[in-house]
Amino acid sequence: MKCTQCGQRGLGIAAFANTAGGKTDYKCDRCMAKNQAQSIKSVREIDELIAQYEKLDKTLEDIIKQLPQPLDIPKGLGGFAMSPMSSYKSVQIFLAELRPRRMELLAEVENESRLQYELEKALKDEDYDKAAEIRAKLQGDDKKT
Ligand SMILES: [Zn+2]
Repeated sequence: MKCTQCGQRGLGIAAFANTAGGKTDYKCDRCMAKNQAQSIKSVREIDELIAQYEKLDKTLEDIIKQLPQPLDIPKGLGGFAMSPMSSYKSVQIFLAELRPRRMELLAEVENESRLQYELEKALKDEDYDKAAEIRAKLQGDDKKT
């Protein structure tokens, strides 16, 4: 199976029915993680999700420590069976996509509050051209989210 988004073959590829095209989409863990990370628009939301994954990460780590031997997965089923180790790897992939996205969202928030501050300052200085420019930027940001 190949991931329809990035074209890579590999384990952890899940199938999604694409109702619009009547086709089936195959997505690898990394693309699913990327898509999930990109769909999140607020720092609060991503913080909650990261906390959930970190909790899961800790739980899986404990399970793996108690099971030093790899689970015996029948040949040919490796791609389908969810073992603690494969779940753990998926969690790592999700966290690796979510953490940089969190930084992006933080930067956006900072940018927005900086613009708000500049807008107030421009209004105080009666620099209405500048104020209009900043307002346009702020509205542009709203459209994206
Ligand atoms: Zn992919």
